[in-house]
Amino acid sequence: MKVQTLSAMLPRLLIAALCAASFSARADLRVLACEPEWGQLATEIGGDLVTVKTASAPGQDAHHIQARPSLLAQVRRADLVLCNGAGLEAGWLPVLLNRGGNPDVRQAPGLFLAAERVDRLEIPTTLDRADGDVHAMGNPHVHLDPRRIVSLSQQLADRFATLDPGNADQYKQQQEAWQAVFEPKIADWEQQAASLKGLKVITHHRSWIYLLDWLGMQRVDELEPKPGLPPTPGHLAKLVSKTEQQQVKLILYRPINGDDAANWLASRTPACAVELPLSPGEEGTDTLASLYDTLIQRLVNAHQVCQGDNP
Ligand SMILES: [Zn+2]
Repeated sequence: MKVQTLSAMLPRLLIAALCAASFSARADLRVLACEPEWGQLATEIGGDLVTVKTASAPGQDAHHIQARPSLLAQVRRADLVLCNGAGLEAGWLPVLLNRGGNPDVRQAPGLFLAAERVDRLEIPTTLDRADGDVHAMGNPHVHLDPRRIVSLSQQLADRFATLDPGNADQYKQQQEAWQAVFEPKIADWEQQAASLKGLKVITHHRSWIYLLDWLGMQRVDELEPKPGLPPTPGHLAKLVSKTEQQQVKLILYRPINGDDAANWLASRTPACAVELPLSPGEEGTDTLASLYDTLIQRLVNAHQVCQGDNP
């Protein structure tokens, strides 16, 4: 009788284990995420159990995306549409859901609107179209606060479990393992950003309000006269004296904003312009954690360099 040694059996055991793993970890849930940050969160929490498509690319303006036919086809096939909500996609998500021909994703549990599941800042007390039309439900850019991301990661794992109950335990385990790594980083980031506390900034769009709120930085104004409206010469001229009087240190913008307005103001005041990524996938970031790493490094560096230039 042929006796197999353990070492001879190992490759076969390994293959069997891998097969079992790949069988139980097959992608069961098809997720269509509106923005890269939510696609990334779905990937980090869902792992091999989800396949994730993303409607907008890193660096695009998620306020304005075309509801193109390829996106409609993805809506049709999706088990979960995972979007920012709170009005961010007001110009295109309703069209996508109405024309997508998939009633399951028009409401929960097939639809998950992240910003509508956490506290939002800047909720207007009165609604006036003259105030711009992209932040009518409060500021929607919640993903730049990692504390809100932790809450949303738990809610998303619960939603995955509702839609795919056979893998409920695994979603829970994956979320807990993710949180065990991600959550301790929040205190590290706060420590790294200690020098930014109280720092006054002007931002191009109100994209970073949750980051500023988390790190204790102060928003003084925006380059946009109203959310979603481009900077005007008259508004920028007013910002020159405001920047000096209030001792604004940094002017934040993202590549899609262009650097004209930020550089114009920086060239006329002691403040410095700093370009920042908004979503994972931009400027060398891949995970959500690396997005916060990069944002804080860039801000701390810009503040140091600016202080050196303007002591
Ligand atoms: Zn916005």
